[in-house]
Amino acid sequence: MSNEKLTYKKKTVYENADKAVCDFAFDYAEGYKRYLDGGKTEREALKLSVAMAEAKGFKEYRLGDKINVGDKLYYNNRGKNLFVFSVGTEHINNGIRMTAAHIDAPRIDLKQCPLYEDGGMAFFKTHYYGGIRKYQWVAIPLALHGVIATKDGKVIDVCVGEDENDPLFYINDLLPHLGREQAKLPLSEGIKGEQLNVLVGSIPEGDDVSVKLGVLKLLNQKYGIAEDDFLSAELCVVPAFKARDIGFDRALIGSYGHDDRVCAYPALTALLDSTDTEHTLMCILADKEETGSDGPTGMQCDLMLDIINELARELGGNAAAVRANSKCLSADVSAAYDPNFAEVFEKQNTPLLSCGAVFTKFTGSGGKSSTNDANAEFIGWLRSILAKDRVVWQAGELGKVDIGGGGTVAKYISKHNIETIDLGVPVISMHAPYEVIAKVDLYETYRAICAFYRY
Ligand code: MN
Ligand code: MN
Repeated sequence: MSNEKLTYKKKTVYENADKAVCDFAFDYAEGYKRYLDGGKTEREALKLSVAMAEAKGFKEYRLGDKINVGDKLYYNNRGKNLFVFSVGTEHINNGIRMTAAHIDAPRIDLKQCPLYEDGGMAFFKTHYYGGIRKYQWVAIPLALHGVIATKDGKVIDVCVGEDENDPLFYINDLLPHLGREQAKLPLSEGIKGEQLNVLVGSIPEGDDVSVKLGVLKLLNQKYGIAEDDFLSAELCVVPAFKARDIGFDRALIGSYGHDDRVCAYPALTALLDSTDTEHTLMCILADKEETGSDGPTGMQCDLMLDIINELARELGGNAAAVRANSKCLSADVSAAYDPNFAEVFEKQNTPLLSCGAVFTKFTGSGGKSSTNDANAEFIGWLRSILAKDRVVWQAGELGKVDIGGGGTVAKYISKHNIETIDLGVPVISMHAPYEVIAKVDLYETYRAICAFYRY
């Protein structure tokens, strides 16, 4: 055996793949950037995903509908969680090739009684969603997204701050001149949750000279709502930045919400592009991953089992056999090695930017607590199919053993006797208002999922 074959060395996609693959990666990234800009919340990402599926001939499925071989279907769960599936020609008992990614992202939600005024300014009170570093969300341009459900059954879509001509929103920060005491605080306490108040207006109205009333009048003109309609609204504040290329060579993309659209997009597009497989395929786009996958739209909900049960019943299979023979890629991001913070990473086992899709055998923290820990035999099989398509990939884990940790939806799928592993794209500045990924890693993840659906 040659020395080169005897030793394993991680290489970048640029060294490993054909020039054509790198060119395709850059083309593929253009569609992804549009998906990022058009889908900043789970509701918006779902709408875009449904449109993409319908354009490829997928039809809406409702529980109880007939299912036949060859069907291309999607199930829309409350506008926040999507199951896209195509029924293959092989027997359903052979299992389903599944992927699961999440389409929610860390952000700042409005409280149910949000509006108040102080110091001549009107603000929204907020309650942050997911693991944000609060200091990163002040003094940046923000947009307001969401829905207002009224008493009379209307659901009003809200999206302000994305159009060039829209106004933006803002969270105030302290000036350095008066920030001496604040600067002594730990990073996690410099900005507190109750300080994340969003500036939304400053022109007073009426005899009371009320700025709050001024804002309410404008909201009433635009949406026909009154203050109590906030009680049944889901409104959130997200960065108003657009996805843009980063670096002179344009190899990276900066954007809000890569985690986890950077996995949702390849999982979905790979399924929509997979026409040469006999397998039944399923792509799950989940909500609430960032808060623990609870609720009826999170991966802990039994809906996945309901749909698998229906597939088994309709196609003359056995649901337990379907699950036992299914395989799942839990598609979620990983932290890329960052030389600015080298001390938290163990370089040999940390994903490197531009070195391809990342397979994470186990997540969790400390002694692998709360992890799925994928089986070696499953990874061996994955290696064989990835080699067939010359996919560039790497093994990775999240930082040094005792430093921290994190989880994904993998364990909520594998607990149903479905072989599962985490796969995803390495991210710089994960959970920041503007995160960075490499186009070649995105594309290799797409190619890895295509191979998984095909073989
Ligand atoms: Mn994620
Ligand atoms: Mn996350």
